[in-house]
Amino acid sequence: MKRRLTAVYFLGMVAEIIVRAPYARQRNQIQKTDQRVSLAERGLLSWMTLGMFALPFASGLSQWLDFANYRLAPTTKKLAGGLGTGLLSAAVWMLWRGHRDLGANWSPSLEITTQQTLITEGVYRTIRHPMYTSQLLWGFAQALLLQNWLSGLGGLVAFLFLYLARVPNEEQMMLDHFGDDYRAYCERTGRVLPRLWGKG
Ligand code: SAH
Repeated sequence: MKRRLTAVYFLGMVAEIIVRAPYARQRNQIQKTDQRVSLAERGLLSWMTLGMFALPFASGLSQWLDFANYRLAPTTKKLAGGLGTGLLSAAVWMLWRGHRDLGANWSPSLEITTQQTLITEGVYRTIRHPMYTSQLLWGFAQALLLQNWLSGLGGLVAFLFLYLARVPNEEQMMLDHFGDDYRAYCERTGRVLPRLWGKG
């Protein structure tokens, strides 16, 4: 069971790499005019590699991290596996949607290119950070699939970093470049969930 759920997790990771690959290739060819890759940004990207790849790899394929396993009853374990698989699929879908709508405007860190435009349509019509919504879904999926306190929580910790450290800087960068258009866009959208009431 442990190996099967780990396999599902890594299948999700392969799907995300495939979704992202053409955009990663395309962005190398575009000139950047503003790069805000701070120490916090580098820390975040390193944590993502450790918490979402290295630790899951270690807990899935070795016994090193077994001391931190969750102990779940067999039926609960099955339920967690099913729910985790559903959330993982939703995360991959959301990432794909975000990439499709953001196109060449995407960057792995905080950057503005010479061709940057403000996207406010598609999934960006209601939420400003669908890729971070995808990260939140991934974080829950990771915790449910890996059932280990150390490797399971890596994705949720990465989401917290994204939400608390990157989002304010990203929104400031967008405000600096798109001014009132971005301010108005923020008024009608939510950050990671659609804005149903009050301020987003
Ligand atoms: N936060 C967004 C995008 C993540 S990629 C999401 O979660 O889907 C980060 C890059 O996307 C930033 O460097 C910025 O250049 C770009 N970006 C973010 N929001 C954008 C928007 N509405 N339109 C165009 N580019 C955007």
